[in-house]
Amino acid sequence: MSRVTNDIENVSNTLNTSFIQICSSVLTLIGTVTVMLWLSPLLTAVTMLIIPAMYFGMKWITKRTSVRFKAQQRQLGQMNGYIEETLSGQRIIKAFSQEERVMAKMKERNDSLRSAGFWAQVYSGFIPKLMNFLNNASFALIAGIGGLLALQGVVTIGTIVIFVEFSRQFTRPLNDLANQWNTLLSALAGAERVFDVIDEKNESEDEKDAVDVEDTQGRVEFADVTFSYEQDEGETVRNISFTASPGQTIAFVGPTGAGKTTMINLLTRFYDVDSGSILLDGQPIQQIRRESLRSHLACVLQDTFLFAGTLRENIRYGRLNATDEEVEEAAKKANAHSFITALPNGYDTVLTSDGSGISQGQKQLLAISRAILADPKILILDEATSNIDTVTEVKIQEALGRLMEGRTSFVIAHRLNTIRKADRIVVLQEGQVTEIGNHDELLVRNGFYASLHKSAVEGLPLIEKAHG
Ligand code: ADP
Repeated sequence: MSRVTNDIENVSNTLNTSFIQICSSVLTLIGTVTVMLWLSPLLTAVTMLIIPAMYFGMKWITKRTSVRFKAQQRQLGQMNGYIEETLSGQRIIKAFSQEERVMAKMKERNDSLRSAGFWAQVYSGFIPKLMNFLNNASFALIAGIGGLLALQGVVTIGTIVIFVEFSRQFTRPLNDLANQWNTLLSALAGAERVFDVIDEKNESEDEKDAVDVEDTQGRVEFADVTFSYEQDEGETVRNISFTASPGQTIAFVGPTGAGKTTMINLLTRFYDVDSGSILLDGQPIQQIRRESLRSHLACVLQDTFLFAGTLRENIRYGRLNATDEEVEEAAKKANAHSFITALPNGYDTVLTSDGSGISQGQKQLLAISRAILADPKILILDEATSNIDTVTEVKIQEALGRLMEGRTSFVIAHRLNTIRKADRIVVLQEGQVTEIGNHDELLVRNGFYASLHKSAVEGLPLIEKAHG
């Protein structure tokens, strides 16, 4: 964000003001030197004597400022990032009484920024002083040497007077250039950071022969899929094979870090498989354009993201061209209609982007409304682990039941109820499928799932007792 705001603004300001000034300085310089040469090449040469001094002086200064300007931009970015992070995480910070530590760290970052900025300014502050000195030195040189030449009758007093004036004309644009150099350096430091972002590799392009898929039955097959996030860190998931027939519910079960989310990341093509393939209706998903593939998918994730806007707009995010009636229809199916209409402004209630004002459970109902509106063939569900009140929970389960009907669903399941109802349970352990089958089959197997089930039944959450 800092790169987008601070650095781009920096570059844009430089282009807007400094660039124009630099052009005008260069033009003035060319004009002045031409006239000076025409008046007296000898005195022009004398005036030029200051250029090497200026060159070395500037070199000395910029060598020191450029690193510091870069550091300043970097520190500014870090500090802004830190402010953003701590502001959005302030509840956690307070809950864990970390205020002092956060403030100390903020002070530390602030100090680094100040010291980088301080030295960048100190060194660049030398520039006008240097120029002033050279200006006066050039005046003295012209007056002295010009005086001697005038005594010998080589130049007239008039020429010297004009020359003194022109030598100021000559150094002023140089002076401006030197000052602009300063801004330019800071902008260059910013531009470098902006280009880092621009040069960042894209999500890989769609394959050249990738096609659009208009309609799908929703048959998904994982065929010997192996994948790792980092090439040198071993495989995250390996040799995964199973098939989801149209309309089936597949539950992924396994300990944290087993690779459940990874399976979803591969199916949605946020990452591509290293070997093996994932097939949609028998066609490898790499051959399908990402946009087309994703149009057949909808996700209901643990943490529903709501945009700043009305409830209606937030539901409509599922399908942008939906009419108001369709939005309400979807909300009804998702059991969200009643809580929405109970709000004073109903569907026009404005949400802040962090979704404060509505509960976690209600957020989920909104997410389900979105998915119902999107009406995809394939559904991805990351079941919430957080506790939601029993009434809302029942509503969510009911809405999900309706949503999953007739769709191929992949569920990262935590609730026993959901798992029990799944057509197939894929048990993942350390990136491998260790057991596969439905609830009854896996219980008979008496393996990992059976023991998981046993411990879950013993510590059965309230909701399970009510409906189990
Ligand atoms: P689960 O959803 O079953 O808890 P994940 O699929 O999220 O597990 O993670 C499987 C493994 O992959 C974990 O060891 C995790 O640390 C690693 N992992 C997950 N996401 C990334 C990522 N973006 N980059 C590198 N490693 C990751």
